[in-house]
Amino acid sequence: MKKLKIEYHKAKCIGAFNCTNIAPEQFKEEDGIRANLINAKEEKEYQTKIVECDEESAKLIIEAAEKCPANVINVIDIITKEKVVDTTVKVKESIREIKAVYDDLNEFVLDEKGYFLIRIVPEKKMIEVGFCGKRNIVEVKVYGTKPIEIYQTIIREKIIDRSDHAAYLGRELQKAYTALQLGIPYVQDDELDFSKNYRGE
Ligand code: SF4
Repeated sequence: MKKLKIEYHKAKCIGAFNCTNIAPEQFKEEDGIRANLINAKEEKEYQTKIVECDEESAKLIIEAAEKCPANVINVIDIITKEKVVDTTVKVKESIREIKAVYDDLNEFVLDEKGYFLIRIVPEKKMIEVGFCGKRNIVEVKVYGTKPIEIYQTIIREKIIDRSDHAAYLGRELQKAYTALQLGIPYVQDDELDFSKNYRGE
């Protein structure tokens, strides 16, 4: 028999639902956004619960916590006092520290596959991305409202190969999204201009 304490930082859940799939006896999907720890106590930002269970169920609880991509589930063995799954991030005593540098002139490499044209459509709260395999010819249009759904679609559809190009796309999409939220113009490759209130509020 095992006795485990589950501490779940619900507010930080990103709704990937690994926990509900792996340990449905403990975690339940709540309104499609977050998981809920079933029959839990509310303790500040955490939901907590003590579970007495057999080895098999304990393994599932531990696996659910380990596979949480948001790293928001602690599991403590009440008998041994061991933190079986610990969400605390620790830093090794000697770590490599690297100052970030980038020389656009010498390091930029053009993606031979093609390039992206990005624009926002404020009336629809939409971001549109056109992919050009050849100069000035849009071959694919991907549209959506959130950066993550657009770049994940582009990666899934294998429209992009280079990791530096994907990083560029992510940065531009986040800028476009921010511009849409704030009602300011978005011009690809330009910095956002936060100095004016374009909504006139
Ligand atoms: S696995 Fe983590 S992020 Fe995913 S639903 Fe469960 S708690 Fe939330």
